[in-house]
Amino acid sequence: MSENLKITSKITIYPLGSMGWIPGFGMETICYCFFHGDEIFILDAGTGISRLLELRESLFSRQMSKLKRAHIFLSHYHFDHCLGLFWLRALLPGIPVTIYAPGQPIYGEPAHEILGDLFKRPYSPKDFDELIPGVSVINVDTSGITIGTGEGSIDIKVKLNPEHSDPTVSYRFNDWFAYVTDTPPEEETIRFVRGVNVLLHEAYFDSSDLFTDADDDLETHVGGPHTGSFGAGLVALRAGVERLYLIHHNPESTLEIIENSARLVTSELGIDCRSSKDLEEIEIDL
Ligand SMILES: [Zn+2]
Ligand SMILES: [Zn+2]
Repeated sequence: MSENLKITSKITIYPLGSMGWIPGFGMETICYCFFHGDEIFILDAGTGISRLLELRESLFSRQMSKLKRAHIFLSHYHFDHCLGLFWLRALLPGIPVTIYAPGQPIYGEPAHEILGDLFKRPYSPKDFDELIPGVSVINVDTSGITIGTGEGSIDIKVKLNPEHSDPTVSYRFNDWFAYVTDTPPEEETIRFVRGVNVLLHEAYFDSSDLFTDADDDLETHVGGPHTGSFGAGLVALRAGVERLYLIHHNPESTLEIIENSARLVTSELGIDCRSSKDLEEIEIDL
């Protein structure tokens, strides 16, 4: 971590992409970012990461002018989460990039090899290491990661989610926020996110028609490898999280349903639940 890292009193998370699977409703596929000191932290690299091309000249111009390093945290390798790595050289020119992704032992092979298989000729004009010059790839496992030292450091906890179609990982950044996507709701997630100010949790479908009361089993709000809106709401409620953002929206739904799901969770569970929308900033007081 660079010396310019400052201890901040607030962080702003920018939703660059709030959709799952397919861009839609004016939103891109999943990608969130925040700046800390002179570094950018990016969560997943869906098509939303393409917004950096314009934002680095406008909204992010001040931060980008002093940017020293980029950290990218991948939850898993489905295309809606990592397609944007293809464009990285243009989005963050000359910026050293570290990618953190599940590899050994979760996938049985190093993350670098998995990414190398995904981005190689003839599918990409350059093999992975040339596509993102100077990239380093770090295997994440549940032992977590610490970036920086001292009071400005970020302690990143990692949780494995084994029930998605392929394994995914959730990330928790200090007590600031947790990012949980592409997983059904889990009891273990409640323990993982307890004590954070803000939870970003996937809600791939509206599960209000399955909701009975606040004692519902989480199982009630599982849809295959994904979470229903009340599954995310119950995780937040039981973990005592102050604010919940529903993320990774289903493109086969409608904008009205997406917005209403958050309203229904708020009214039924009495928690502050919002539907994440691209470029609607998420402010967290530290
Ligand atoms: Zn996804
Ligand atoms: Zn997925």
